[in-house]
Amino acid sequence: MNKSKDFDSYLEDSFMGSREASRPMPESFIPDKSMDPDLAKELIEHLRLDEAKADQNFATFCTTQMEPQADELMLHALNTNSIDKSEYPKTAAIENYCAAMLGHLWGLDKNKKFIDDYIGTSTVGSSEGCMLGGLGLLFSWKHRAEKAGLDINDLHNHKPNLVIVSSYQVVWEKFCNYWNVEMRTVPMDPETLSLDMNTVMDYVDENTIGIVSIQGITYTGGVDDAEKLDELVEKYNQKHPDLPVHIHVDAASGGFYCPFVDDQFKPWDFRLKNVVSINASGHKYGLVYPGVGWIVWRENSEECLPHELRFSVPYLGGEVDSIAINFSRSGAQIIGQYYNLVRFGKEGYHAIMENNHKVASKLSKKLNKYDIFEMVHTGEGTNLPIICWKLADNANVKWTLYDLEDKLKEYGWQVPAYPLPKIRGVNKEIIVSRVVCRPGMTMAICDDFIEDLENAIGELNKESK
Ligand SMILES: *Cc1c(COP(=O)(O)O)cnc(C)c1O
Repeated sequence: MNKSKDFDSYLEDSFMGSREASRPMPESFIPDKSMDPDLAKELIEHLRLDEAKADQNFATFCTTQMEPQADELMLHALNTNSIDKSEYPKTAAIENYCAAMLGHLWGLDKNKKFIDDYIGTSTVGSSEGCMLGGLGLLFSWKHRAEKAGLDINDLHNHKPNLVIVSSYQVVWEKFCNYWNVEMRTVPMDPETLSLDMNTVMDYVDENTIGIVSIQGITYTGGVDDAEKLDELVEKYNQKHPDLPVHIHVDAASGGFYCPFVDDQFKPWDFRLKNVVSINASGHKYGLVYPGVGWIVWRENSEECLPHELRFSVPYLGGEVDSIAINFSRSGAQIIGQYYNLVRFGKEGYHAIMENNHKVASKLSKKLNKYDIFEMVHTGEGTNLPIICWKLADNANVKWTLYDLEDKLKEYGWQVPAYPLPKIRGVNKEIIVSRVVCRPGMTMAICDDFIEDLENAIGELNKESK
């Protein structure tokens, strides 16, 4: 530690004996004086003590562990700026490699070439990806609508709308608010708890900029039936060639999961004709720390990605398109993503997701054995490894899932309880609990949780007698 001249005791080398150890941390004002760097670091570590339980956090979808090699690579890239493509041309190239790989992973023909044929970009997360995907739909609809003779400035008759399942992630509400788009939410199908294929097309008209298909519904881990949706949209588009409807797939969690789990999922991506763009979170099943996301458009065309979304930036003596809402941010996450793709390959991602699925499967079977619970989504079949359950109607317990959430918190586990969004024909509120099984969740953690769950339920029963 630095020796400060005005320090009059040998305790200057002791963290515990330092003056700062007994002082509150600065909160509202920048301190007048500087501080020893080791001391500052130690104090801030202390401030964050109760955050260090990432492995017990079953609420988040986000990555909390990467390999030490990835940590090191990312540390070295922390001081780069991904938007500055001429200063960091290799980072820019690596970003393109990742987006190119994702396009192919998501069903684009292997002869298609990145930029020549299709295009994409990294984002801060899926939220920025969804914003860009939504804007692509909006501007491309505006061009078509004008051509078809609609007065798009007449917001009374031609306010653009977006069609989406009621269990959308909040970013879509932001998108609609920010860009003045009407959000048409379709209540969930009571059978599948996803976009209702019986009713979805009733929400579509000439002002519809697109339909969002969700591959990994945040609330339940289910998926929309994109294949069926594409069929319905194709039928609609045949009848409305001037104003065809586009599909954007929000694959925030599914984009890095479904392609690696063989044949469990029906086609949901660019294999479907009317899917124009797909976003995914690199920091969810892409296995990178927050925040990185991706979006890929099926064609590098005005129809898919209108000029309003492209801005030229200098790159290697020429110019390239920058497609982004944000400007400066570190390139570290892009490097981390590339590391994972190269290091794990399809084989590795497959093995990791299979492990994850086994853990989810065990937990789900365990929960299913409790008569008091009814599984809403098991994490099996065409679901992500996300487990969602409710109290059975005949559970006959005097506690709620909110009580269970609180009780599990005492054991250190975070398992949120919340009401499901609107389901067609269902008026009562359905409260569910959810566990997101992430790749860091080993069987050891799962078994530990199962034991604590058993105890938590026992305690709740005892306390509420
Ligand atoms: C998590 C999520 C988002 C938002 O993604 P971020 O990467 O957190 O910005 C959007 N849509 C869905 C379906 C999600 O699960």
